[in-house]
Amino acid sequence: MTILLTGGAGYIGTHTCVALLELGYDIIVADNYINSTPLAIDRVKEITGKNFKSYDVDVCDIPGMERVFEENKIDAVIHFAGLKAVGESCAIPLRYYRNNLDSTLTLLECMQKYGVRNFVFSSSATVYGTSQNMPLDEKEPTGCTNPYGWTKYMIEQILRDTAAADPEFSAVLLRYFNPIGAHESGLIGEDPNGIPNNLMPRILNTAAGKMKALTVFGNDYPTPDGTGVRDYIHVCDLAEGHAAAIKYAVEHKGAEAINLGTGNGYSVFEMIHTFEEVNHTPVPYTLEPRRPGDIATCYASPEKAEKCLGWKAKRGLAEMCRDAWNWQQKNPNGYKA
Ligand code: NAD
Ligand code: UDP
Repeated sequence: MTILLTGGAGYIGTHTCVALLELGYDIIVADNYINSTPLAIDRVKEITGKNFKSYDVDVCDIPGMERVFEENKIDAVIHFAGLKAVGESCAIPLRYYRNNLDSTLTLLECMQKYGVRNFVFSSSATVYGTSQNMPLDEKEPTGCTNPYGWTKYMIEQILRDTAAADPEFSAVLLRYFNPIGAHESGLIGEDPNGIPNNLMPRILNTAAGKMKALTVFGNDYPTPDGTGVRDYIHVCDLAEGHAAAIKYAVEHKGAEAINLGTGNGYSVFEMIHTFEEVNHTPVPYTLEPRRPGDIATCYASPEKAEKCLGWKAKRGLAEMCRDAWNWQQKNPNGYKA
């Protein structure tokens, strides 16, 4: 069985490439490297000892994508390709709508033309908006607070409509919580462009001495220690969730939203302390006011994933912190030499 991974050179894509290759799937990657590098593909090959085709193509480019479908017999698609920075999406919303929606439409039209009907989509817990009903389950109403989130919301709807119009089509809408960590080899990991916004890359930058101190945004939330609580999930667990979703898509028809989270919430202070303890490395921090737009608490109900996919996250917070630091130490400047 051959799976096309759009955005397969990115952070979650590379880890999913490894998981799928290790399970014996054939894969093809389509990526324009707008937020990644071909070196990441070389690292996937190094880890797995397996070869596969990768196309340098913009997924919005119809002739370019038709070539990918023409030259390969594709059975299923995982659509990671997309722009993902929340703040940037508020500054340049049209670029986000154009890239994220156009790439999805091009892909779906190619799939229709070439008779491919299994689709797994990188959605996000951000579609739950400001909901406070924890744990979040998939029945919770959706609605977003920024253009990035709206692209996920709209694509979910496009996929539901596509499935409604074609009884043979299946789409699994994977709503990721907070992926962190890296492959245990330290050969692939998250390599954010510029100054990162997310907590773990900022902890890594602080531990590595690139930032003097981590800014903790708010210690007055209604949480056990006052800092924000999130459902952090090891990227390798997340990757394995995609393999389970592919199997589900092949065996079921229709569109299904499924959370990929652990069901555990950890605070910013718990993250800092676990990181320091596991890696014997200090993470100095300063307390700052809340970051605008942040919610206090967000964690998943992982029950549907367990029931439908037979998948459950296995790796704990210590492993996430250890593997993230291992990647950072082996690649102090990411994939750049
Ligand atoms: P990433 O930026 O590392 O990977 C995305 C990949 O898509 C990159 O390699 C980029 O070059 C490629 N890409 C973007 N637009 C493209 C286009 N038009 N044509 C071809 N390639 C294109 O991001 P990631 O963290 O691996 O995220 C993967 C997906 O998961 C994204 O859709 C993201 O929105 C979603 N997601 C990520 C998170 C997270 O915290 N990382 C959380 C929820 C959802
Ligand atoms: N956070 C923080 N300092 C930082 C970055 C993030 O205190 O430098 C907090 C943030 O307020 C939130 C949590 O860490 O409570 C996770 O933030 P992240 O941006 O990683 O994920 P998201 O808020 O998008 O779920």
